[in-house]
Amino acid sequence: MAHQWRGVIHEYSDRLPVTENTRVVTLGEGGTPLINAPKLSALVEGEVWLKFEGMNPTGSFKDRGMTMAITAAVEQGAKAVVCASTGNTSASAAAYATQAGLTCAVLVPDGKIAMGKLSQAIAHGAELLQVDGNFDNCLDVARKLSENYPVFLVNSVNPARIEGQKTGAFEVVDFLGDAPDYHLLPVGNAGNITAYWKGYQEYAAPYVNPHPGTSDEELPAVATKTPIMWGFQAEGAAPIVKGHPVTEPETVATAIRIGNPASWEQAEAARDASGGQIDSVTDEEILDAHRWLSSKEGVFVEPASAAGVAGLIKHHGLGNVPAGKRWVITVTGHGLKDPQWALKSADGSDITPKQVPFDVVSVAEALGL
Ligand SMILES: *Cc1c(COP(=O)(O)O)cnc(C)c1O
Repeated sequence: MAHQWRGVIHEYSDRLPVTENTRVVTLGEGGTPLINAPKLSALVEGEVWLKFEGMNPTGSFKDRGMTMAITAAVEQGAKAVVCASTGNTSASAAAYATQAGLTCAVLVPDGKIAMGKLSQAIAHGAELLQVDGNFDNCLDVARKLSENYPVFLVNSVNPARIEGQKTGAFEVVDFLGDAPDYHLLPVGNAGNITAYWKGYQEYAAPYVNPHPGTSDEELPAVATKTPIMWGFQAEGAAPIVKGHPVTEPETVATAIRIGNPASWEQAEAARDASGGQIDSVTDEEILDAHRWLSSKEGVFVEPASAAGVAGLIKHHGLGNVPAGKRWVITVTGHGLKDPQWALKSADGSDITPKQVPFDVVSVAEALGL
């Protein structure tokens, strides 16, 4: 039988907090393509790779963390889980909870959640509550609920989530043979930048396999270095850039519409230890990058997912992008989550299909043949 990717826990069990007895809840997440981006590579005169996390089972990188969080919840005897979500966490939690047979409660901000994500949570039977408030308010309530009632919190403040998500960095290094020079990604609640940095650090250090029955010899480091981390927030939701929480975050990139990131300090630590930066990009820059990815690279993502690419293009324009480097950019979620943006052109006008009569000559003419 041909080999099938087994999900991040089985593939990286020696580097995750699981044992041989752990009942793994998985939908086969991870193993996502690292796609060469020829047009971006030409632009920066370097080598640009896109880690396309839209290829996960529920369409975002959240699945890497959710397999760990739901597996841990089951191990600890949970019957129900809760999360606050801008959309993708709820889609992921609902799917993994369903497979595990757990009840899943989801708190989403009122009216600011993409249709694709909402329909996923509902399809998987989550108890979905729209909270009269923003994401930060939702997370606050979810945390208090998990402290005072018998439900497990599966947001990225749960350390199991970070453990699962660090496998994204492992896959990059396993594929490229070493860490890239730079790693770029969007920053919302800042769990993912925290997780990638953890993964890169672990792969750049010697390692002792902690599991019984395996060799306890120290293994050499997998990578010779760690990358410089560049994170990008949306300008209307850029608390880390501004240095203070944003009470009314606003951006078309709903997945990073977060005013008070839970992993704020860890994101700053990743930035500082790697010699990197956390900067902001405007909604216009995000939508331009979103259009660049779909029209030039063949990669369809949701708006928030394009923030890292927007950052690369912005800093290339500022003259901050050295030539001859290797860049990896995580594009975090699938374009079908929030497809409305593809139907707008750069000037904001609607794109509609050309109408043609039922006739070969007219079709050929419309195609310019
Ligand atoms: C969750 C999410 C982000 C933000 O990740 P954080 O870990 O919250 O910083 C970015 N893009 C997409 C598509 C997401 O679902």
